[in-house]
Amino acid sequence: MNVEEILSKLVSFPVLGGESNLSIIHWIKDYIADHGVASVLVPNEENTKASLHCRIGPAVDGGVILSGHTDVVPVKGQDWTSDPFELTDKQDGRLYARGSCDMKGFVACCLAALPEMVKAPLNKPIYFAFSYDEEIGCLAAPELVEAINNYYSEQPRFAIIGEPTMMKPTVGQKGICIFETVVSGSQGHSSRIKQEVSAIHEAMRLILWLESKMNSLIVAGQTDSRFTPNHTSIHIGKVSGGIAPNVIAQECKFNWDVRTIPSETPQQILEEFNAYCASREDELRKVFPGFKVETTNIHPAVPGLDTHADQEIVALTKQFANNNELDAVSYAAEAGQFAEGGFESIICGPGDIAQAHRADEFIDKEQLAWGVRFMNNLVAHFSES
Ligand SMILES: [Zn+2]
Repeated sequence: MNVEEILSKLVSFPVLGGESNLSIIHWIKDYIADHGVASVLVPNEENTKASLHCRIGPAVDGGVILSGHTDVVPVKGQDWTSDPFELTDKQDGRLYARGSCDMKGFVACCLAALPEMVKAPLNKPIYFAFSYDEEIGCLAAPELVEAINNYYSEQPRFAIIGEPTMMKPTVGQKGICIFETVVSGSQGHSSRIKQEVSAIHEAMRLILWLESKMNSLIVAGQTDSRFTPNHTSIHIGKVSGGIAPNVIAQECKFNWDVRTIPSETPQQILEEFNAYCASREDELRKVFPGFKVETTNIHPAVPGLDTHADQEIVALTKQFANNNELDAVSYAAEAGQFAEGGFESIICGPGDIAQAHRADEFIDKEQLAWGVRFMNNLVAHFSES
């Protein structure tokens, strides 16, 4: 199968983040097995989802992991002009489908290169590492990384995460953390606003604190020019609370995310926020002793990526991609998790992130061909004596 045929098969599995991916992962496992390579599944506890890893080549240190995810984002409510789960060639140089760009295009390049990898006299191994639930918070990668570290007696050295970067080697990625804050106040008639504590009024104060926290980081010069925006961002994306205009709200909840530049951690911001919340509790318990603010982490934090330009993976990726432009991205990806697992990590893959997650997602055929050339260069490099 050529890369387009493989991509067409991969996009036909409508596996969304959070759903069972066994259909697509078993198809991939069988495809790999047909080329004489055994792979290992890393299932979730309920056995409804699995990541996959395998090694091609000798069991020696210094190999490279090629990482991709098998899930995609929903199409609901989007205005598609073709079936999102059928690869459509509109004769405009592009191939349309959900996941064509993010990131089954890269997975297809890996699988299309497999016959070459198997034939090549590799002196360092190449690994595939395909995960699930990336789109709902990079949930599976930590376990997959651990499984790889435990399973192989040799130590892989590099990891290339094929998120769409237009084949630009990408060395920086922001970290992300998602929180929920629940404010518990007292209820009562709205005329008694000074005798009760409105959870909504207090939640709004906390939200404004978070916004000014972000602004103070910018003013303090805590920026990283590689990113757009160049600072840690804090955003409140959902608020709910209250039952009627004339009833003081007993509860108000809001969800927020922090996208950190590599020099900052969400923990620093959370600690300061919690301290502010504690000071509000001290104050308002004088009015209503049950007043409470609780913040929980509703997704495990996804670490950022901060690979240095002099690390060997950077030179190698430039060479494989035939591209000397280095980049940094503000979206979350699994690269920071692979870096934490001990691998020199980088993001580089076909397609443009601007085309991801939207109606009529597509990948340029030229990008897909570029991805295949990348694989050929990589195989040649790891076959040199
Ligand atoms: Zn992705």
